[in-house]
Amino acid sequence: MNKPYYSFDAAYKKRFGKKVAKISLDGGFTCPNRDGTLDTRGCLFCSQKGSGDFAAAGSSIEAQIAQGKYQTAKKWQGHSPCYIAYFQAFTNTYAPVKVLKKLYEQALSFPEIVGLSIATRPDCLQKDVLSLLSELNHKTALCVELGLQTANEASALFIRRGYDNTVFEKAVFALAQKNIETVVHIILGLPNETKQDMLSTIDYIN
Ligand code: SF4
Repeated sequence: MNKPYYSFDAAYKKRFGKKVAKISLDGGFTCPNRDGTLDTRGCLFCSQKGSGDFAAAGSSIEAQIAQGKYQTAKKWQGHSPCYIAYFQAFTNTYAPVKVLKKLYEQALSFPEIVGLSIATRPDCLQKDVLSLLSELNHKTALCVELGLQTANEASALFIRRGYDNTVFEKAVFALAQKNIETVVHIILGLPNETKQDMLSTIDYIN
């Protein structure tokens, strides 16, 4: 498809030589912005399922992968895609390293899974977690997805993001130091944000 930008889909197709589909997973995590550590209300836009509404919460990783494959097979008929296991719901590094390692390795044990995407908060990347991620980065195509949403600190307070930009910057540099691919999520059109605010967020990320 002709797009005015180099899409993630196109980049992955080039890297793996075929269509890559993400299977959304719920590893049974919570989030410091939901469990009372920082807040109980969560980010303003967060859903009951911790922004992981496509994942089949409550099922085993194996069952979720099987279901994800079934759904994508219907969508991508004739493409025989390979898959990225996408730990999407809630904060996917918010548990003891032993638990994280077991879950990530479980997902990677399926031969059709060619990589791992882990959605998390920049304030949940402690030293031991970074070491585990670095280890995984040598074994598979790893990507850490951070939800910045906006670089405007007033908007970040409004959406109850729960950390300031310096925390984000520290996490991005720590991931870069370990050569870990990082994706940043943003929201365009937050209440009270101008076009200039949105462009400033893009400048900040770049
Ligand atoms: S950090 Fe993610 S999981 Fe936590 S409240 Fe915000 S959107 Fe929801």
